[in-house]
Amino acid sequence: SSKPTRSYSITLIPGDGIGPEIISVAKDVLVLAGYLEGIKYDFREMLMGGAALDATGLPLPHETLSAAKQSHAVLLGAVGGYKWDRNDKHLKPETGLLQIRKELGVFANLRPATVYSPLVDASTLKREVAEGVDIMLIRELTGGIYFGEPRGFGTNDNGEEIGFNTEIYATHEIDRIAHFAFKVAQKRRRKLCSVDKANVLEASMLWRKRFLAIAQEYPDVELSHMYVDNASMQLIRDPKQFDTMVTNNIFGDILSDEASMVTGSIGMLPSASLGASGPGLFEPIHGSAPDIAGQDKANPFATVLSAAMLLRYGLGEEKAAERIENAVMDTLNRGFRTGDIYSAGTKLVGCKQLGEEILKSVESNV
Ligand code: ATP
Ligand code: MG
Repeated sequence: SSKPTRSYSITLIPGDGIGPEIISVAKDVLVLAGYLEGIKYDFREMLMGGAALDATGLPLPHETLSAAKQSHAVLLGAVGGYKWDRNDKHLKPETGLLQIRKELGVFANLRPATVYSPLVDASTLKREVAEGVDIMLIRELTGGIYFGEPRGFGTNDNGEEIGFNTEIYATHEIDRIAHFAFKVAQKRRRKLCSVDKANVLEASMLWRKRFLAIAQEYPDVELSHMYVDNASMQLIRDPKQFDTMVTNNIFGDILSDEASMVTGSIGMLPSASLGASGPGLFEPIHGSAPDIAGQDKANPFATVLSAAMLLRYGLGEEKAAERIENAVMDTLNRGFRTGDIYSAGTKLVGCKQLGEEILKSVESNV
């Protein structure tokens, strides 16, 4: 490559369960794809979740957070497991994850829903509907009804107990996710669908108004709007109509799980959480899968694809990202599968061997 060597510091957080197995594969893939594109890394491996609770008593130790903040990007495996199932939130592995997201100020959550043609039969949808689906769903992550005040329990005028929450979006929160979404769409097929409920909710009316205003700055992107009820139907009816989608926190929570079932394989789905500046957080959408931990059965593709997102969205290293994505496709085309995506006629391998096959594909630069 013509660019000089670039160097990045990466915080690796293997976490619990299958985390260490999948992070080990993703690290090797990052190193090789990076090497081939003139990229070097300085890795720091840190504790979070159950592993951190056992070692330090805290789900997010101070050293982990400060390493994360000082690095260019954070790659996370998964946290949690039966061993740490408790009620006290200070002692929950998942609290570490919520804390690090908050501390890094990551307001945009990106979840691709891509149907890889060799895995099209894993989709819950018919082959002809699922084939070729390639959606990027962007969820606003730090505002909306999950955080809005006032919230709580009370009594209404009849003395009846009530629970209440508040959906609030300020202009600056909408504007920053809108700019973010338009920029992502520019890197893709330049179609952005904003999902809201602007026929009923004021927070959505402002959302739509701001998206329309900001669209003026992105004349190359085709903006459309869809009500969330319709969008949830269209995702199943004809998912290929979508390129980039953007929505608020609660709608994104629901639609991203729906979109993941369009692809049908949890072991294939990466994610990225990004802020305005500072390091992004990259992780598979699946959990720590304690039922298969330590057995070399985990599917590392979701974490490897999260590493590709780290290169593209975290470091701006598009070519190395593409190398990894092409390698994933090549490995699938060569028939290698872990148990969760296995079907008759393909080759069942463990996490480690699949990692080695991915490295071969990266090397052969298809
Ligand atoms: P969490 O609460 O952390 O999201 P969960 O129990 O909801 O955890 P997962 O840990 O994602 O969900 O696991 C759900 C099921 O999917 C389990 O049976 C697990 O073995 C399987 N699974 C999850 N990730 C993978 C993977 N990478 N490879 C193979 N199987 C997986
Ligand atoms: Mg879960």
